[in-house]
Amino acid sequence: MPDVLFAATLTNRATRLDAVLATMDGTMLRRGHEIYPAPFGPDAFVAAFVRLARGLLRSEAREGVHIAGAALALEAVLDAGAGKVVAMPMAADWGAFPLSERLTTASGATSGVAIVSLTDAALLGEMTLGAGRGVTNAVLLDLSRSVSAAFCYEGKLLQRPYLGAIGHIPVPGATWRCACGGHGHLETVASAQSLVRWMIGRLVEAPATEAAVMRLTGGRAEALTAPQIWQMACEGDPVAAELMGAANDALAHVILTLLLALDPERVILSGALAQCGPTWRDALARAIIQIAPPARAGELAACLALGELGPAATIKGALALARQRVISITG
Ligand SMILES: [Zn+2]
Repeated sequence: MPDVLFAATLTNRATRLDAVLATMDGTMLRRGHEIYPAPFGPDAFVAAFVRLARGLLRSEAREGVHIAGAALALEAVLDAGAGKVVAMPMAADWGAFPLSERLTTASGATSGVAIVSLTDAALLGEMTLGAGRGVTNAVLLDLSRSVSAAFCYEGKLLQRPYLGAIGHIPVPGATWRCACGGHGHLETVASAQSLVRWMIGRLVEAPATEAAVMRLTGGRAEALTAPQIWQMACEGDPVAAELMGAANDALAHVILTLLLALDPERVILSGALAQCGPTWRDALARAIIQIAPPARAGELAACLALGELGPAATIKGALALARQRVISITG
């Protein structure tokens, strides 16, 4: 039995660890997960990572198998080159933690344990198996609880601790308070979570909209999703149309800026908002065409693509990174 790859993601505010064991060509062998009652501290996390890796190896039940390469994707500010966490917003005790080194020592992975942000991992996953196949220059926008971007240039991820923090670009006219303490930033207008929050906040003044939301959610407005808001906007609900229109206009400005500045071949839309589907992508493309240089408008808008892997993009990207790591070290 040849060596194997191990890839993991730490999500849900550092409480959920998912992992896969795969063959060197990326075929999945085993999956597992562990849920922690509060955000993992770094030492407890290293122990859980190794416990899960050993558990999956044991269940493979073959002699002499060990981990050649591994990678972990997590939501944190990372110095990926140095293998360190710079900061983790939801857990202060991770600051400056030498995560890659500690995971490598504890797991015994021959080529080490690479670390990567969730957004960067999603881009790697999409470029390996999804909407970014066949291109070497791409941008991925994660539009979920927050808004962030990842960049790949000539087949290589661009990595800096705060690179891609586009959720904090100010949107003209927007005034809502952002999680960072500022006001009117992109993610207050265009994250899936903000859209749901503002929509629910507007229900008290819009009885027809409230009735539609109750119908769609079976009476549980708090379960409303971004795709349901998009559906309401398409059916002519004025509140949904206003919120989605503002989100798409703000996104169109930022995406056009990225297209003009970086000239990517593809802009991959990912995360909960991208679940709105092709009609939403087309509306976003039309918003870009309206403001783009006319001679290039169609060509620029055609770079937009919906992610194809959904939430699985991150673990698939982490697996691709583990494999790259082994190949780059062993040649
Ligand atoms: Zn902000």
